[in-house]
Amino acid sequence: MHNVVIVGSGCAGNTAAIYTARANLKPLVVAGHEPGGQLSLTTLVENYPGFPEGINGPDLVENMKKQAEVFGAEFLHGSVVDTDFSTRPFRLSIEGDWIETRTVIVASGASARWLGLPSELALIGKGVSSCATCDGFFYRGKKIMVIGGGDSAMEEANFLSRFGSEVTVVHRREEFRASKIMLDRARHNTKIKFLLNTVIEEIYDAAKKVVTGVRLRNVKTDAVWDQDVDGFFLAIGHIPNTKVFKGQIETDADGYIVSKGGARTNIAGVFHAGDVQDRTYRQAVTAAGAGCRAAMEAERFLEAEGH
Ligand code: NAP
Repeated sequence: MHNVVIVGSGCAGNTAAIYTARANLKPLVVAGHEPGGQLSLTTLVENYPGFPEGINGPDLVENMKKQAEVFGAEFLHGSVVDTDFSTRPFRLSIEGDWIETRTVIVASGASARWLGLPSELALIGKGVSSCATCDGFFYRGKKIMVIGGGDSAMEEANFLSRFGSEVTVVHRREEFRASKIMLDRARHNTKIKFLLNTVIEEIYDAAKKVVTGVRLRNVKTDAVWDQDVDGFFLAIGHIPNTKVFKGQIETDADGYIVSKGGARTNIAGVFHAGDVQDRTYRQAVTAAGAGCRAAMEAERFLEAEGH
């Protein structure tokens, strides 16, 4: 019987692990299908307090893990595939092995969103990617396209301009979600071009099993044209990882956990932390703060229950 099971090993989960481990609760962290979370897919993080020169995302999250392990947190490879929160102790199936716990901290984050084109699905890993940091290297001297109008799209376009001969940012509107500083940086980058009011209709060439180009459409003029592309990078947001909690933890229409105040969910003893609940801030530092909050609430919950 565990005191605390933490689902997810990103910034939120690892911070919750540090706090609950220091409280002597011996937390078990289920690492999930993206160990380290989104920080493990990024490069330099310049806005996490305490690092005036910045720190690499994978280093930051690995340091957090080590810090949690110093205090006795245990990390488990694998993902939660099923849950039963209808009675206590709560039960979670880790790849088929059921475990029991008095409290749960859900820090399972959010995963990359895809356009949903059949050709996109067929070409994932063959020129279609949702991770510039992971795959940018393969497109040295090649034509790269980035889809999206948020900070991620600007960040990825800038990063990919180190490799590609040219980077085209395709965005479906004229207005951007990206912050001014990120947008200006991309706009001042001579390798980056913008195609606005434009959507992707098709990615070529699924039959050849490699990306060779795309069919684009201007949503204002309805003009349709083809463009050569070698690397196609999605940066169109994320979907919360709450599928395994469906029907148990209350979520909103998009699948984000509905907070009942603090770190509480609709189930007493089950807490939320990080991007799985937060559609507004979604920063490493806010996820870490949420992990701390969830840990403190789990601690108090256990204390009140006499554990
Ligand atoms: P986001 O802000 O939600 O932006 C997603 C973009 O993708 C939007 O421009 C959206 O278009 C577009 N989009 C969504 N679905 C689409 C579809 N089906 N087809 C075409 N376009 C689609 O997501 P994000 O850029 O990943 O950023 C998430 C959060 O992380 C933000 O709070 C951001 O500030 C933060 N972030 C910060 C940094 C940094 O500071 N270093 C870096 C990355 C991310 P519409 O605008 O038309 O909806």
